[in-house]
Amino acid sequence: MNNQLYADILVEVPGMQPDRTYQYKVPRNLVGSVQFGNRVKVPFGKQKVTGFVVGLSEEKAVEKVKEIINLVDNGRLFREDQLELAKWLAGYYFCSTVKALQAVIAPALKKTTPRPVARLYSVVEPAQLPELRRQMTRSPKRLAALETALQHPGLNKRELASMAGVSLFVVNQLCAGGILKVETNLPVRDPYPQYRLTEQAQVSLTGEQSRAVQDVADAIRKGRHRAFMLHGVTGSGKTEVYLHCIEQVLGTGRQAITLVPEISLTPQMVRLYKARFGQHVAVLHSRMSDGERYDEWTRIENGSAPVVLGVRSAILAPVPDPGLIIIDEEHEPSYKQEEAPRYHARAVALYRARKSRGVLVLGSATPSLESYCRALPGGEYKLINMRHRINGKSMPNVQLVDMRREVQSGNSAIFSLVLLQKLREKLHNKEQAIIFLNRRGFKTLVVCRECGLVLKCPRCEISLTYHTDGRLRCHYCNYRVQAPKICPDCGGGQVGYFGTGTQRVEMELSAALPGGRILRMDADTTIRKGSHEQILSAFSNGEADILVGTQMVAKGLDLPGVTLVGVINADSSLHMPDFRAGERTFQLLAQVAGRTGRGDKPGEVLIQTHTPEHYAVQAASRHNYSAFFQSEIAVRKEMGYPPFAKMVRVLLSGKDDAAVQQAAEKIRTQLDGFVEGANGGKIMIVGPAPAPLPRLKEDYRWHIILWSADYRRLRLVMERFQRATGGAAPGKELRMSIDVDPMYIM
Ligand SMILES: [Zn+2]
Ligand SMILES: [Zn+2]
Repeated sequence: MNNQLYADILVEVPGMQPDRTYQYKVPRNLVGSVQFGNRVKVPFGKQKVTGFVVGLSEEKAVEKVKEIINLVDNGRLFREDQLELAKWLAGYYFCSTVKALQAVIAPALKKTTPRPVARLYSVVEPAQLPELRRQMTRSPKRLAALETALQHPGLNKRELASMAGVSLFVVNQLCAGGILKVETNLPVRDPYPQYRLTEQAQVSLTGEQSRAVQDVADAIRKGRHRAFMLHGVTGSGKTEVYLHCIEQVLGTGRQAITLVPEISLTPQMVRLYKARFGQHVAVLHSRMSDGERYDEWTRIENGSAPVVLGVRSAILAPVPDPGLIIIDEEHEPSYKQEEAPRYHARAVALYRARKSRGVLVLGSATPSLESYCRALPGGEYKLINMRHRINGKSMPNVQLVDMRREVQSGNSAIFSLVLLQKLREKLHNKEQAIIFLNRRGFKTLVVCRECGLVLKCPRCEISLTYHTDGRLRCHYCNYRVQAPKICPDCGGGQVGYFGTGTQRVEMELSAALPGGRILRMDADTTIRKGSHEQILSAFSNGEADILVGTQMVAKGLDLPGVTLVGVINADSSLHMPDFRAGERTFQLLAQVAGRTGRGDKPGEVLIQTHTPEHYAVQAASRHNYSAFFQSEIAVRKEMGYPPFAKMVRVLLSGKDDAAVQQAAEKIRTQLDGFVEGANGGKIMIVGPAPAPLPRLKEDYRWHIILWSADYRRLRLVMERFQRATGGAAPGKELRMSIDVDPMYIM
């Protein structure tokens, strides 16, 4: 007779965050079935809730123990190391363990049973093809379908039809004629059937590339944890370095994860990986169906896909033994998840690489300040520089246009005279241009159009924004001041607001350049799915001369026909109420400046700005990262902002503005108490203030920001706060979120 068995269970209770396990009795009929990693139904209070088995014992921990109701699925959903990852996420980002675990195993929770799919195989052998070609000259469509089926065995009917460019009717005819046979089984759903073929590409590396591969390969061979910052200019061939490093790690029997930003996970990128590693690649992104994602997930877990290519959440993939983790464009803010658990993929990657003694490679042309700091001499990361483009082309010439002079000389239009002149030249030479509108900015920003002055908070060095009450406000510390009508610096009277829409740009452009064919790409013109690609392909086919758009047009910068890029308002992102505004502006401008001139003709970039002397604008125009870094790091140091400190933001939101403010004030008092009670380094705490986006949908938003160079002490404060509040907002209709290392303080 067995002893009674008890299970420790993490429960999911809606509206409550009990971050602990509860013990339940394993009923006799489930002994032997219930194991670590199971999902179960259990009673909790008066409800039935879902829980996860995280431990088993024969000892009863409390007097009254309820019984597990049933198992939800067959088999276990997670391993020990995945639970550990969830616990780390929960601890670092102040969320509940069950929430973190759900994020870690999300695809497994949405498991679906695949429907049998009819797959097609040719009955004809490739050797018979020449003979068939002669016989089928009168039916080119059937021949095309047959040839495609021979090249790509195992497609379903729809895939075959679309790939061969024929109708389903043609495919059905071939099946009926017995030329294609149909096999029905339960296959793994391959979201990229067209890339099934493996073509071993032989690419020779440049000197810089092979040195980079060498460095990383050495670390992989040693089997110890090591992190690299791969700082390479755009076009220096970082992807090829990644592929070679992955080959190295596969040779040691371990696996590799590559993360790319959502916008970079293009079919070309997938094709590159599939061409090199074939069926060993699993792809994970947000546009997949749950079923496709689950299948890829399973292939990763059982080791049949040791190469993972994906977006942010792929860092949580169940790779058994990651020997290499690569984060491309590591500076991209989209690596931060904006809902709980609010993790940054880079931080998770570092955790996983350390844990598995794996190698981490962070690649970027414009590294984040956080990462680059760690790559300085004596730092935790080793710096690898790639300074040259593989095609040997020089970086495009960048010219700054001082918009203050335009205003002084009487031109208050959107376009400077020199940009219009250049555009006319391009039209005349039948070359293409892109007009890039920097819209990351804020239309509530106040700027002097004559001297470029933007008013900043005297305490926080953050740009002030205009409010309807006629006052300027700091969104960090809530400092307020009357908005001036006359510029306090130059005495000029043209103090106004930023904010230029793409539509207005398009209108002014058509008026100034009669006969020029203009395409616009923004949120309005890309509502329909696929319209983004349509506009770009129309532009690349030469159906227009000028493409006007926001950040979205960045993808078009690689088009060979484009020889001029004009940036309308470089400053608007520069003065965002965010301490990273300078960094974001530099990254944006450097990206624009680095990617033009892909064709035979040299590229040209014109940047219009009210503050041409700003170091971020200056450095971007000269493709000089290190100059930017030196200036920016000095500012951060002076203000004590990250990377010299850890930052935590507490955000309150709700439908009643006054209630949200009151709750935020109460929390501030509470936090002050914990700050006083904790010994150690200085903790800065500002707010409550309305968030830079004071109203989102129906909700009013107030926040409090804390930062300190002494992260232990800050953690202690936050842990006490978390314990005292249970992570819940003080008020029924309110919500509270804690964001560690916030990326967007909006
Ligand atoms: Zn002024
Ligand atoms: Zn302030």
